Amino acid sequence: MTNLILEQICQVFDIAYRKGWTTSCWDGNASVSFAGEDFFYISTSGIPKHSFRPEHFLRVKILDDHWQRLSTHPCTDALSPTGEIPVHWPMHRHSHSFQTDRVILHLHPTHVIAALHAGHDLNEISARFPNLKRKCRIAPDIENLPESADLMAEKTFQHLGLDSQGCIQHDIVAIGGHGVVSVASDPFTALSYVERVNHIAEVVLLSGK
Ligand SMILES: [Zn+2]
Repeated sequence: MTNLILEQICQVFDIAYRKGWTTSCWDGNASVSFAGEDFFYISTSGIPKHSFRPEHFLRVKILDDHWQRLSTHPCTDALSPTGEIPVHWPMHRHSHSFQTDRVILHLHPTHVIAALHAGHDLNEISARFPNLKRKCRIAPDIENLPESADLMAEKTFQHLGLDSQGCIQHDIVAIGGHGVVSVASDPFTALSYVERVNHIAEVVLLSGK
């Protein structure tokens, strides 16, 4: 089961790369925790997204207030987890008590970034497209941030409504000048949230309104 989900994340990375939502080695990342477990897997830096394999994920133990790298595959011994791991591990902190798996997917979808750059408010706009936002709870947008994974994490948790039990109020949040963070119980649902929000952004940009 673990390998299946990691394979699916690899497929999602490949799809995102072909859409231009992640650029080869450095952009975009993902992690997954499993219901009832106290560890998660996270993508490493420096591997091209279109050739990502399950052995390129690091297994990480969840501690009270931090994380610890666990045994790895020889392929990942020299690799580091994504520098945006602060956005991931706190959302896996309560996985031991979750009933479902949790996948966190961070991508740079082009039309979302363009719409925010043009001054659109995706959260407000999405209310006008009830069918497009169906089954996808879109959080209020995050303004442009300085390059800081800790600040990105703080704002992401705040806007997703992450509570002390690890529950969230929204499925996806857009970050100005950067991308999105999507949370779901499986990789393809997480991708579908990105696709829905990007579709809304594309429609709005094409409309010119
Ligand atoms: Zn990013």
